[in-house]
Amino acid sequence: MKFGGTSVGSVKSILSLKKIVEAEAGRGPVIVVVSALDGITDKLIATSHMAQQGDEHYREEFEAMVNRHHQMIDTIITDDKRRVDLFNNVDQLFDQLKSIYYGVYLIHDLSKKTEDTIVSYGERLSSHIVAAMLKNGIRMNSRDFIRTQKKQGRHVVAMEETTELVRQAFGNIRETITNNHVYVVPGFIARDSQSHETTNLGRGGSDYTASILAAVLGAEVLEIWTDVDGFMTADPKVIKSAYTINELSYVEAMELCNFGAKVIYPPTIYPVCVKNIPIRVKNTFNPEHPGTLIKQQIDDDLKPIKGISSIKGTSLITVTGLSMVGVIGVNRRIFTSLAERGISVFMVSQASSENSTSIGVRDEDAQAAAEVLNQEFAKEIETGAMFPMQVESGLATIAIVGENMKQTPGIAGKLFGTLGRSGISVIACAQGASETNISFVVDGRFLRKSLNVLHDSFFLSEYKVLNIFICGIGTVGGMLLEQIRSQQQFLMQSRRLKLNVVGISDVDNFTLDRDGIDLDRYMEILRAGYPANTEHMRDEIVKMNIFNSVFVDCTASRQIAELYQTFLEHNISVVAANKIAASSDYDSYIRLKQTARDRGVWFRYETNVGAGLPIIGTINDLCNSGDKILKIEAILSGTLNFIFNEIAADVPFSETVRRAKEQRYSEPDPRIDLSGTDVIRKLVILTREAGYKVEQADVEKHLFVPDDYFQGSLDDFWRRLPELDADFEARRKVLEAEGKRWRFVATMEADEQNPADFKTSVALKEVPQDHPFYPLEGSNNIVLLTTERYKEYPMLIQGYGAGAAVTAAGVFANIMSIANI
Ligand code: ADP
Ligand code: ASP
Ligand code: MG
Repeated sequence: MKFGGTSVGSVKSILSLKKIVEAEAGRGPVIVVVSALDGITDKLIATSHMAQQGDEHYREEFEAMVNRHHQMIDTIITDDKRRVDLFNNVDQLFDQLKSIYYGVYLIHDLSKKTEDTIVSYGERLSSHIVAAMLKNGIRMNSRDFIRTQKKQGRHVVAMEETTELVRQAFGNIRETITNNHVYVVPGFIARDSQSHETTNLGRGGSDYTASILAAVLGAEVLEIWTDVDGFMTADPKVIKSAYTINELSYVEAMELCNFGAKVIYPPTIYPVCVKNIPIRVKNTFNPEHPGTLIKQQIDDDLKPIKGISSIKGTSLITVTGLSMVGVIGVNRRIFTSLAERGISVFMVSQASSENSTSIGVRDEDAQAAAEVLNQEFAKEIETGAMFPMQVESGLATIAIVGENMKQTPGIAGKLFGTLGRSGISVIACAQGASETNISFVVDGRFLRKSLNVLHDSFFLSEYKVLNIFICGIGTVGGMLLEQIRSQQQFLMQSRRLKLNVVGISDVDNFTLDRDGIDLDRYMEILRAGYPANTEHMRDEIVKMNIFNSVFVDCTASRQIAELYQTFLEHNISVVAANKIAASSDYDSYIRLKQTARDRGVWFRYETNVGAGLPIIGTINDLCNSGDKILKIEAILSGTLNFIFNEIAADVPFSETVRRAKEQRYSEPDPRIDLSGTDVIRKLVILTREAGYKVEQADVEKHLFVPDDYFQGSLDDFWRRLPELDADFEARRKVLEAEGKRWRFVATMEADEQNPADFKTSVALKEVPQDHPFYPLEGSNNIVLLTTERYKEYPMLIQGYGAGAAVTAAGVFANIMSIANI
């Protein structure tokens, strides 16, 4: 049973360890391998560097480490005698360590050997504490039986010697260990077989110590106790929706660990795999959770991909030339020369033209690797057969892993398709013939996004995430947030969709949070955000580079509409309640649509016409299926319809406008409605969706408020409005007597013989009682579509055409269509 740094790092966890181990010891012999207290190895190293640089503060750091261990002992060891003994042991170690640090401080020298000695104290201390805390703990000194030898500048385990020494040290453990005794072994540390100096197995190496012991002694199981519920589909610190994998094969675990799943130190798998000893990864903080079982053969699992892992800080070295095909043994020379310098290569990709080979190495090895290769191929470079090595750093390597990939076609296609749609370009890639791993290299800045988007698209996640920016929290935006808030739980539970609002903005502020904004208190959070600034907001959103994201525009602002192009270019979908973009000049409208198509994202604006009514979608469906829209007649202004329904002997025209504003049907500036601008925009959008090229200026206007009312300030307008009342009332009386009503009608009519020839107009019309527009109540909208297929009886869509709730719901529906669940 190996317990990592966090498992021995706090009082709570170490007491949990005690319970777990003592329960297990009652069932059979146990060896416990421990890491240093969480963070201590880093501290030991950092402090040694301070001492070397003559920084006095190293003493404080040292004292802090002493205190942390002392406090831990004080709290967990209640038996007086045991505590005194333990303090003696521990303080003896600290005395030595203090002297070593002082030596480093005095001579300003920190050799590898000294550093290795210093870091060994972490595990030496923790193992003393754990042994003293356990009921029958016997501390073993791992430097007596874990031996290393130096190979290419690295310490590697001297396996034969170690095997022999472990057998001697533990004898026949099954028979000799009695009375619930538990052996406690410091992980990580070792001794050089020749010089007998203290060495170690590399960062994270305690896992390896445990694996070696398990393998040599024929353990039943190797348990890795850590701070997460097992081996997960991805690093849970990066992917919120990562979850525990029940079972993994050794091969899968090895591939994931090699590519950075640090939950198990990579060399750990091999020794137990050879002996067919299963590994169980468990959580010290949640021991009831079954965790992950790693073994040879796993039960059928249909998922092609088991997990994703990644390594940051990788470099790509490209060996290339014009006539490399003629250079003999290029690959042998590349790998031999690198191996001689002890540089490990974790990825290779070679074009079949043989003209270029890319190899992945760690950033810190990149310079050396390039030098070695430039030397190796100096002659070829000189003659011009090859180019000097190209080094690209700051990259990240990602691997998707699963043994079932073998049987599943299309995985690579899906992988690269998903990345492409998210605007992530793949710099190099490799797939082994074993088909259990596809690895690829991306710009380091795209790592988080790549991991998220892949995790999502391979259904590794138990739920899908849609990240939403909401711009504008007035009538519609505010209602939308409310609707999202109240639907969040339902969508998560029954649709497995997580709607994550990652940004909110209004005229005063904007706020962004990739973890999601708490919608119960978004106002407070928004007010603490940045001051509103459109360019700043745009740049921050682009910089966030978040996957599966939608920008939702609930404003009526031109400035905001001008951001869509940039967002679409950065693979952010756009849902607009704002009509400006879709009704602006034709070329920009087409460009937005084209960009969305090229990027594999969406530009949707169903609520631009008829609020929540399915008008644009219906026109699209008709056209896509080959129908031809010949005529559109529509009442598209909820506000105007409301006004002409409200107007009466005792309700003058100016009062109806005021009511429309109060009841929030009208645009913030009602002149947009009265001037026909709003209806013209809508008609332009419908006409374009029907496949006609039209601009706002092409629409004929027959208005009912004189032009000069639209020129001055808004205040002027409100002041002057009652001047129109008398005239309206006179005309209204005549109309009433004729049994007619006013309707503001938008029309698009194409010449049936020559459909490219079409006319658009908006006009106040007087409609008789038998006309379908006559009874249209309140702020409702109606659209009559005459098409080649719906000719004799046109298609009719009717219902609320304005209002916060239905418009927000229409926006919501657009968002859901993007989530595509
Ligand atoms: P310990 O100190 O117990 O050895 P580590 O910090 O070395 O613990 O390893 C556990 C950590 O590994 C987790 O906290 C998690 O952040 C990280 N990790 C990375 N990839 C994975 C993965 N696929 N599954 C689980 N944990 C992972
Ligand atoms: N304490 C060592 C480290 O931090 C070894 C380990 O924890 O496994 O790397
Ligand atoms: Mg570890």
